[in-house]
This record gives sequence, C-alpha cells and structure tokens, in this order.
Amino acid sequence: MPNFKRIVLKLSGEAMAGDKSQGIDMEAIRTIAKQVKHINELGVETSVVVGGGNFWRGRDSSNMDRATSDYMGMLGTVMNALAIQDALEQMGVDTRVQTAIEMREVAEPYIRRRAIRHLEKNRVVIFSAGIGNPYFSTDTTAALRAAEISADVILVAKKGVDAIYDSDPNINKDAKKFDKLSYLEIINKNLKIMDTTAISLCMENQIPLRVFGIDDASSMIDVVLGKDIGTKVE
Ligand code: UDP
Repeated sequence: MPNFKRIVLKLSGEAMAGDKSQGIDMEAIRTIAKQVKHINELGVETSVVVGGGNFWRGRDSSNMDRATSDYMGMLGTVMNALAIQDALEQMGVDTRVQTAIEMREVAEPYIRRRAIRHLEKNRVVIFSAGIGNPYFSTDTTAALRAAEISADVILVAKKGVDAIYDSDPNINKDAKKFDKLSYLEIINKNLKIMDTTAISLCMENQIPLRVFGIDDASSMIDVVLGKDIGTKVE
C-alpha cells in the first residue's frame, strides 16, 4: 500500500540529462516515467515539478540581465515538461502539462483547481515554467505547488547522490549521511539540498520531504511504498 495519497515529485533538470551534463536524454526520462507510471497505477495522485538546469540556470549567466536570464530558465523547464509528458503518454499514462507563463498552444495555463481536478481523475500533472517569476527556483515551485494542492509530501529526486549528506559524498568519502533532518537543521547547517526559500515554505506549511537518488531504477517506488531510503525531512 502506498504511504501517500497525493505527491509532488521534484525532478531537477540534471535528471533529464541522464549521463550527459546538458540537454535531454530520452532514455533517462523513460526510466523516470516508468516509475511515475507505477506510482500512478498504485492510485497515488502524482504531480511533477521539473527543473531546467540541463538547459539554463538564470543565476549562472553573469553578463545578462537577471530577469531575462531567469525567463530563459523557465522556458527550459517547459521543454523538459513536454519530454516527460511524451514519455508518459507513450506508456499510456494520462497527463496534463500546466505552465506558469501562458503559452496556450503548448499547454494549459496553471490553474490550481483544474490541476486538482486532473489529479482526482488520476492524470499526472506536470507543472512547468516555475512559478512564472524571475528570482525564484523550481525548488520553491515544488514547495508552493505542494502547499496549493495539499500534497502529503514532496519527493526530491536527486541525480548522483542518494540522500542528504554533511558534505558531497562524491568528493568526501567520509561524508555523513542523514536519515532524518528538520527544516531548521537544513537551513542552519547550510545543506544545499533545496534553496532556503523552498525550505522555509515547506517548514511554514508542514510539508514533509523525502530526498533520495534517482539513479536507482526503483527508488521512487520504494519511497512511495514507505521503504526507509534516503533522508526524511519533517
Ligand atoms: N526559474 C525562475 N523562476 C521560477 C523557476 C525557475 O526564474 O519560478 C528559472 C531560474 O533561472 C532557474 C531556471 O529557471 O535557474 C531553472 O530552474 P532550476 O534552477 O530550479 O532548475 P533545476 O536546478 O531543478 O534543474
């Protein structure tokens, strides 16, 4: 039996790129989509917030107007959303993409009640274009959408790491893994798992997080079924 009724899955842009550092790797997306399909079939109302770092990160462009750069980042997330939608639909999963910046020829605009209705009908809803404003991140988008749709949890799927550690386990072999953390510990220890805006939104609205690795082909399902992997943040 699944542990959650309604979830937000946060996928970083990196997860879309598979082993390449940039762009889209359809094979990696299909592996993710298979798990989303499985979760959806378990009856879990599933929404996805996609990042866009595989295309563009607003803050990384030093000599461009920040807002313009951020809008480019948001557009990148829409490409990722369409790629996940395509993979899911090819597997027979009903989906809707919603965009926080209107582009009606491409996808529905974000409408909270409509998103909830889709979820109730067991459609996977993919939220893209962040919250539609520069100076924010898709982590914050995940926190905000989770609060808006009353999700039970945010699943934070990470590429290249399977939990929260006190330092990067790919660099420091003695890095300590955390099984459980509070929101304040993440902020105080300056753990770079989500930005502070996102963590404070989760804390204020009591939205639990499960942070785990996406490299394992069944981790997402394991988390939904309540297996103790990754890090719990509550
Ligand atoms: N972005 C934004 N507002 C939002 C969400 C995203 O301006 O509400 C822009 C920002 O430039 C960000 C980029 O979109 O760097 C891609 O999102 P993010 O960096 O969160 O993607 P991830 O790190 O998850 O791949």
